[in-house]
Amino acid sequence: MPTSVADLVLRAAAVHTMAGAAPATALAVRDGRVLRAGTDAQLRELIGPGTKVLDLGGRAVLPGINDAHLHGTWLGALWPDTLFAEDDGGPGPGPEKPLRTAAERRAAILRAGEILAALGITSYTEPGLGPGEDDGHLGAFGMSVVEQYRQLAAEGLLRARVTALWLYGELDGPSTLKNFRAGLATVDRRGPDPRRLNFRGVKIFADGIPPMRSAYTRHCYADGSHAHLLVGGADDPEREENFTRMVRTAHEAGLQVGVHATGDRAIELMLDAVERAREERDVDLGHYVIHGDLVNPAQLKRMARLGVGLSAQAGIAVRTASVVDAALGPGSSDTAWPLREALDAGIPLCLTSDAPVLPPDWRREIAAADQWMGPAEDVRERMETLLRCYTVHPAQQDGAASWKGTLEPGMAADLCVLSADPFAVTPAELPDVEVDLTVLDGQIVYERSPRTIA
Ligand SMILES: [Zn+2]
Repeated sequence: MPTSVADLVLRAAAVHTMAGAAPATALAVRDGRVLRAGTDAQLRELIGPGTKVLDLGGRAVLPGINDAHLHGTWLGALWPDTLFAEDDGGPGPGPEKPLRTAAERRAAILRAGEILAALGITSYTEPGLGPGEDDGHLGAFGMSVVEQYRQLAAEGLLRARVTALWLYGELDGPSTLKNFRAGLATVDRRGPDPRRLNFRGVKIFADGIPPMRSAYTRHCYADGSHAHLLVGGADDPEREENFTRMVRTAHEAGLQVGVHATGDRAIELMLDAVERAREERDVDLGHYVIHGDLVNPAQLKRMARLGVGLSAQAGIAVRTASVVDAALGPGSSDTAWPLREALDAGIPLCLTSDAPVLPPDWRREIAAADQWMGPAEDVRERMETLLRCYTVHPAQQDGAASWKGTLEPGMAADLCVLSADPFAVTPAELPDVEVDLTVLDGQIVYERSPRTIA
C-alpha cells in the first residue's frame, strides 16, 4: 500500500516537469506539493476515495508561470489598458488610473491576482515598493501598497506568490544615498509566510531607457546629448560612487539587488559594484540586471561569472528597435537585447512582461523572444529554453529554486495547464494555446469556462 494518497491527480496529460525527465502522463499532488509524476498506471495507487482526479484529455501540464518583473498593483489598476497600445512603436504617455485609497489598492492587487491566474501565472516579482513613492501620483508603489500586500497575504487572499523589492527612491526616477541608507536601516522583512510574500531585496534605478536618450551609455546619442545616472550626486563621478555604495550596502545587509540598467555604462558600474561587494562578502544573493538593453558580450561573461542574472522584455525589443535606432544611430538595435548570447553565456535569463508596460501574457513574450532571437535550429529545444525563462530561471531569481519552478517530487504544486502541448507548436503559435487551469499550492485558482476538463 502506498504510504500517502494524493489530494489531486491530473492524468491523461503531457506533464513537463522542466527537470530534464521524459514527459509523464500523470501528476499527483498532496499537501500543496508534487508527490510524483509518472504514467497513469503508475499513479493509480495514489488515488484514494478523497482524491480529486482530473482527466486532462491530452492537455499539457507545466510548472506555474513566474513573471520575474511585473507591477501587480499598477497592472490591476490599469487593466485592460497597458502602456504600449496594440502594435504601436513606443510607449506614449500612457493611460493613468491613480489609486487613491487603501481600498482601491487592495482591489487592484486582487484584480491582478485574477488576471494572472487566468494566464497560468503563479508567481511574480513586484519590482519596487517603498516610502519614496508614498506621494507618487499613481498611488501604486508606496508603503500603503506594502500594507495591502501584507494584509492580503495574512488573509490568504493572494492568488500568486509575490516576491517584492524595496524601493527607496522614486519609480523610474531619482534616489539619494541618504534615503537609501535610511530605508535599509528600517527594512522590515517580516511576513506571515515568505513562500507567499517575500521581501527579498531592493530595487535601484540606475538610468532610464534608450528611446528617451536616458540610458547611461558609452555610445553617442544621435542628437549629441548624453545621459546621467538617476542616483543623486553633483557630477558623474559622485553619482557613480553613490550608486556603487548603494549596491555594496545592500549586499552587506544580505539583500538581493535588482538594478534597472539599460545602458552599458550603468551595467558596467553595477558589475564593478557587485565584484567589490563579493570581495568583501562572498555570498551569491542573486543580484540581477533589469532590462539590460545595451549589455555587451564582455559584460554577459562577467555577469555569468559574478552570478548576476538578467530580467528582460523581448516584447519591448521587438516594439522599440526602430526608436532605439533613431536615438543611437542606425543599426544600434542589432546588438541590443542579446538574449541568445545571454543564454549562451549561461545567465539564468528571465523573460518578463514588465506589465502594465506590456500585457502580462507570457505566451506572447515567448513568441516575441523567439522572433527576436531569430530562426532556431531545433524548435523543441527553443521552446524548452524559453519556457525555462518563465519557470526554472525566475525561481532561481526568487532564491526559491529548491522548492518551486519544476515539478519534481516535493516541489510546490503550482501548475499551469494548457489546452495543447507547447512542444507540439512553434513559439509563434503559442499565443493561440489556451490556459485551461491554474493550480497554486495544490489548490485550483482558475479554471477556464465553460468547464472543459472532466
Ligand atoms: Zn518595471
